[in-house]
Amino acid sequence: MPFLGQDWRSPGEQWVRTAEGWERLKLWRLKLSIYTYRYMYVNLYIRIHYKCFHLNLTVHTSIGEAMSRLDLVGAIKDIRRFNYVCKILEYLILHKLSNMSGAGQKIVFNLLKEVLYQAMQTHNNVNSVKQLLSKTEQALKEGHYDHLGSERLWQKHQEAVRKMQDDLGNLHIKEREEDGRTMMSDLPDDVIRDILHCLHDHRDVIRTGMTEARALELSEEKRVWRNLCQFHFDNKTWNTVVRKGESLESLGWKKLYGRLVKRYGEKEVFAEKLCLCSHCNALFWENHGHPCIFSNLPPKSLSINPMMCVELFTA
Ligand SMILES: [Zn+2]
Repeated sequence: MPFLGQDWRSPGEQWVRTAEGWERLKLWRLKLSIYTYRYMYVNLYIRIHYKCFHLNLTVHTSIGEAMSRLDLVGAIKDIRRFNYVCKILEYLILHKLSNMSGAGQKIVFNLLKEVLYQAMQTHNNVNSVKQLLSKTEQALKEGHYDHLGSERLWQKHQEAVRKMQDDLGNLHIKEREEDGRTMMSDLPDDVIRDILHCLHDHRDVIRTGMTEARALELSEEKRVWRNLCQFHFDNKTWNTVVRKGESLESLGWKKLYGRLVKRYGEKEVFAEKLCLCSHCNALFWENHGHPCIFSNLPPKSLSINPMMCVELFTA
């Protein structure tokens, strides 16, 4: 006689409803214990070695499960991890979404909603979220005829993206009111220079210059652009974009940077990344560390970029 569980989703499994949707109870408990110990990691040995011999099956960790166990929704609230998670999301949407199960797609869209919510609350990264939404809209159009999951679910995603775009379009960022505290215009030149030298994204330098005439003058200084050239590119590549009859001096650092970016693209910079332990294959946030089972060995890990992170898991 077949076994009929009380829960039709998976006979024998217990499920619990959370803000992110339905989760397996045992996974949810694990997540709670991870919170307790303040470790967020995925043991990749599940993907690499775990075999169910009597059924002759290899069990892989899905990207949805990994996203849940790494608490990417929580990571969005951390300004140091925001851009990294956004890049994971972008890669997933552009390259994996149509091959993901309906449940996996829901996790992706829940995360996208959290990204939007965070940008609207903090008014940070609004432009990058706008671009992410427009890429998502495009990916949904392209995957319209060959996606997994139901047609209705795909339509729901399209409706959700349109609504998110409307919400973001209606966001009005107010200028800070005069509250007696220090304003940008009160800062001396050297402080503004120091701020400009800390920026690694040329768009931020340009936007800072748009705030007032003095900041514009400081943002055009050659040291700012020389720093950007040195940060993003090896000095051996500089000469590859200098044409015949030109010299670095005659070209200027800003123009040089523009040509280098056009030819080679920018270096991806993240305040915090995920790392993969070389001993136990645990994936963990750089600043959190992880409880390594080989604690007698010196720590050794590899920084993982967002694309590599997605490729570690199955869709
Ligand atoms: Zn380890």
